[in-house]
Amino acid sequence: MDAFKVFVRVKPVMTEDLKSGLHREAVTVGERDGKVGLSILSGKEKEKEKDWWFSSFDGLLTEATNQQVFDAMAKDLMPALMGGINATIMAYGQTGSGKTYTIFGSNESDQQQVHGLLHLALYHINEKLFIGTPNAQLCMSVFEVYNEELFSLLDAAGPARKKLERGMPDFYVHKSHAVASVDEAVQLVMAALQLRAQDSTVRNQTSSRSHAFVRLQVVQPFAGADGRGLSGTLYLVDLAGSESISHASSNEQQRETVHINRSLSALGRVVCNMSAQAPHIPYRDSLLTKVLQEGLDPNNARVALITTVSSFQADVAVTKDTLMFAQRAR
Ligand code: ADP
Ligand code: MG
Repeated sequence: MDAFKVFVRVKPVMTEDLKSGLHREAVTVGERDGKVGLSILSGKEKEKEKDWWFSSFDGLLTEATNQQVFDAMAKDLMPALMGGINATIMAYGQTGSGKTYTIFGSNESDQQQVHGLLHLALYHINEKLFIGTPNAQLCMSVFEVYNEELFSLLDAAGPARKKLERGMPDFYVHKSHAVASVDEAVQLVMAALQLRAQDSTVRNQTSSRSHAFVRLQVVQPFAGADGRGLSGTLYLVDLAGSESISHASSNEQQRETVHINRSLSALGRVVCNMSAQAPHIPYRDSLLTKVLQEGLDPNNARVALITTVSSFQADVAVTKDTLMFAQRAR
């Protein structure tokens, strides 16, 4: 079983895209011989330029529901988690491409509520854990990395944004919240996420400029083969938008973007080294990779990366960059 898997999800064309009249679906992503490729329709000649990138990803998800995404990339991490192995599921891609939708679902008031991978993982854990294992515990924390600073979005008492200082050993364990049910967990996460640093950019009203993640620790006393306890930790990570600095306008946005780019490159190096089974993994290059270290440990963790992409002409350059990231990671 591969410890590291990479998936690509293409955002479907939405009704509002069609209405806006700006939509031009110039990129088609297709699969050939199990490899995913990009085909670009050039603006002027309206003919297909042969411009394909090939790479062997573990899955290409088009028109997929979150449940199908869960089944493809997350389901087989669950037994490992229950067996005491850590797991990380992360979404990488440009703002608006569906990272938050994938990880946390859709909660917008004008939309139908759709469960994200977090909910689906919780329901899965619930069936196995609270029904099958007496004394099992689920501990949850919600974090945000913003401008190389770590914030807890969930305190012992409930949702609250709190800056965490470096150097405290086990600082996140202290903040974890024991949850008694899946419904409680979902409610807490959704309230915590409202506290995320958000800013409006030209591209997206609620573009997320931070990396947000949920840490779920599954503790099963006496469940191990020799009567010892089992503990596995699952990270669900909604990364900040991967688009380049040219989209930032204000100084504050540029500062954020520098931090985002730096931490995403550090993450790229970590996952490359991880999947290449390199002896040294540079976790210390960014706060993001430091705090995710136990979830990115090739000896005790399994990782599924989902890159989300747009199929639009206007996004071609970023889509290429995103697929290059995915390809390097693989
Ligand atoms: P990101 O987090 O990458 O910036 P979002 O997840 O916020 O992007 O997605 C932008 C918008 O598109 C949201 O309104 C979201 O509900 C919608 N959306 C994204 N992916 C899908 C999808 N696969 N199916 C339906 N709607 C989606
Ligand atoms: Mg988002």
